[in-house]
Amino acid sequence: MNHRPFEDWLLADEPLNPQQRRELQNHLRVCTQCTAIAEVNLALRKARTAAPAPGFAQRWQARLAAQRRLQRRQQAIGLTILGLGGAALLTWFCAPLFLAFAASPAEWIVQWLGYLLFLTTSLEAAGEAARVLLSVLPEVTPPYFLLVFTSVLGGFSLLGTFSLWQLMHLPQKTKVSQAR
Ligand SMILES: [Zn+2]
Repeated sequence: MNHRPFEDWLLADEPLNPQQRRELQNHLRVCTQCTAIAEVNLALRKARTAAPAPGFAQRWQARLAAQRRLQRRQQAIGLTILGLGGAALLTWFCAPLFLAFAASPAEWIVQWLGYLLFLTTSLEAAGEAARVLLSVLPEVTPPYFLLVFTSVLGGFSLLGTFSLWQLMHLPQKTKVSQAR
């Protein structure tokens, strides 16, 4: 069998015109030797297209590094925003106290001391009440005792909360009255 020019075409792997391609196809149908060469060519072509372009690894690594930098920067921005937000919130909550202290430190200290005194006396009174309640416990039925005890405790905590609220808002009221 005459393998020329088919063998040459296949080995050179050069582009063929339609007529040449038709002749090659006809030859490949009957020639296993040239079919083998054609199959190797096909496999090589596939491998060549599948292989990454030159410099692909470097470009990929560069892109990855850039992405990591961007992620780090976004994290830093997020943390900064979180920190600033926290600081702003803290300032907003504490500003009335600081302003009150700056406006009249002595008054502020007296108010706080008064509050502390009130708190200690309240706690003492609560302790006394609890002691009295505990001493009369045997004579009182449990559900009733529990009701009385919780209402007393609730009343004291309400009083404490109210006085704290008043203390925190009193300086602002004074300032408003001064501005008038
Ligand atoms: Zn052949």
